[in-house]
Amino acid sequence: MSQINNLLTNYSPSLTRRALLQAAALVPAAAALADTAPVIRLRLLETSDLHSFVEDYDYFRDEQDETVGLTKVATLAAAARAEAPNAMLFDNGDIIQGTPLADYVALPGNFPADGVHPTIRAMNTMGYDAATLGNHEFNYGLDLLNKTLTGAKFPFCSANYLHADGSPCLPPTLLLEREFTAEDGGKHKLKIGVIGFLPPQITHWDRDHLGGQIHTHDIVEAAQAYLPALRAQADLVIALSHSGISAAPRQGGEENASLYLAQVPGIDVIFTGHSHRSFPGPDYAGMDGVDAIRGTLHGVPAVMPGFWGGELGQIDLTLTRSDGKWVVSDFTCATLPICQRQDRDVVSLAADNAAVDAAVAPEHQKTLAWIRQPIGQLTRPVNSYLALVNGADSSLALVNAAQTWYATPLLPPSVQGLPVLSAAAPFKEGYQSPENYVDLPAGGIAIRDVADLYSYPNTVAALRVNGATLREWLERSAGIFSRIAPNNPAPQALLRPRVPSYIFDVIAGVTYEFDLTQPNRYGAHGLQHPTAHRVLNLCYQGAPVADDQEFVVVTNNYRADSGGIVHNPADVVLHAPDKTQDVITRYILAQRQLSVATPEIWRFAPLGNPVTAVFESAPEAAKALLPLGIVSQGDAGDGYTRYALQLS
Ligand code: MN
Ligand code: MG
Repeated sequence: MSQINNLLTNYSPSLTRRALLQAAALVPAAAALADTAPVIRLRLLETSDLHSFVEDYDYFRDEQDETVGLTKVATLAAAARAEAPNAMLFDNGDIIQGTPLADYVALPGNFPADGVHPTIRAMNTMGYDAATLGNHEFNYGLDLLNKTLTGAKFPFCSANYLHADGSPCLPPTLLLEREFTAEDGGKHKLKIGVIGFLPPQITHWDRDHLGGQIHTHDIVEAAQAYLPALRAQADLVIALSHSGISAAPRQGGEENASLYLAQVPGIDVIFTGHSHRSFPGPDYAGMDGVDAIRGTLHGVPAVMPGFWGGELGQIDLTLTRSDGKWVVSDFTCATLPICQRQDRDVVSLAADNAAVDAAVAPEHQKTLAWIRQPIGQLTRPVNSYLALVNGADSSLALVNAAQTWYATPLLPPSVQGLPVLSAAAPFKEGYQSPENYVDLPAGGIAIRDVADLYSYPNTVAALRVNGATLREWLERSAGIFSRIAPNNPAPQALLRPRVPSYIFDVIAGVTYEFDLTQPNRYGAHGLQHPTAHRVLNLCYQGAPVADDQEFVVVTNNYRADSGGIVHNPADVVLHAPDKTQDVITRYILAQRQLSVATPEIWRFAPLGNPVTAVFESAPEAAKALLPLGIVSQGDAGDGYTRYALQLS
């Protein structure tokens, strides 16, 4: 009994049932072989959601970016290996999509002549032991994926990625033999079992590419099917789960199933991913079954190493030989970041890796040339000078058109047939400086211009809303405007000071008016003037919108998940896997010629009296404002120009 107590006191305070069982299993061997039982320290390293961020480069901004890149992670991995007597390296999927480099390689005729995808070529320099697939591996179709897999010098496995006849497309599991050095210098051959999983939703998200050809299984059911045989052969079992961590009640078929997976017997370590977060870490604090400090899911050691090559996952295991078996007798879990933020500065914690840089250099250079050349043609200028003052803004029209084009085919059957609207807010709207506007001339539009149109790394989402909610949503947008006194002959400010433009969602597909004589219905902390209504004449196809009329609104993950006064989060009908920037890029590549229709979505309601409303904008805004009769009133300081808009 005292031996059990000794073992227990050596454990962390967050002792779990699983650890207790392992400790109990250790006791007979510990008693008999206290001096001779070999101990192996094994370091397991994970990358996940690399998304072809190989170089430390932002191709949208066309500049260095110290916060991303496998080239940095490779340096951390090499250092982590150098410290450890035994180490293995795994990747958890979402490898071949997510940067313009990946898009470039996927274009017809651009796959490298050596037959190796540049991201895989870079990974081949790092000595990966095994990998699994993520959902984004299918974004360019199966031909490109299969070509990519043949170039890897490491094996892939996936237990729930199947041909239409139910046979696995890849080995569901792997059994890797590795010789490790114990603490006493002895050599031991261990069999490392690896099993991989992807979100079963791939057949929906990429049905254009996969329709009919590919089937998927529930992650937990696939684990139950394959784990007993793998466990029987392996000394250690590692799950590569391209799936996040959710504590929602299990229903089957979950996208984020890693926590349920941890309850399937037979797994020693879970590498997670897909959610682009860090685990262990505060994002998962307080979740049932999760130790967000030590890094366990139902007692199983687990990590999630962020995204885009920003972090390396690291699990250090102590393996003890006991009763003829290797047992995990202790562990630590961590994620190692490639940089640290100090105030507004980014401090790099890892140098570039020369081998990775060399491996990707040819395609990196070709991608730089590609992002700087047109991928489509604008038949008219697109800028954001009108975004806050006129309902026919071209920059928002382009974003909204791309969102609708992308999301409509992905909507679930439950909302099919409902009108599809799209919401976008201006991000580059002179908030930081008078240069901070979208200003694209007619003619070629390049990939690096996409960051002007959409500067945040949001993903696309869609909500089911009724007419009443739609009206409240627009009441929030109306908070950008000052209250106008219609009888005051003096010039009045149009915009409230220091209100960020990203609150001003413009919803394409309906039309509406703003009554500026009314106070703001919503303040920064919610409903402020419950009887006030600034949104008038909300119409769909020219007819008034009824409170119970239903719509789908395409928006971004941030708006969809923020909840609060706009909508009920349960109304989210689509959490798309793609970044809005990628969606705009795909839209331009698909359209080639972009005419960007700008119907007037909103206008100011009549005031009954002439009023001069003034606002500040860029000097260059004159070219867009003057044709609308909005005239310059001269310098407003700090590089801004004051403009006057006549309301009546
Ligand atoms: Mn991902
Ligand atoms: Mg570099």
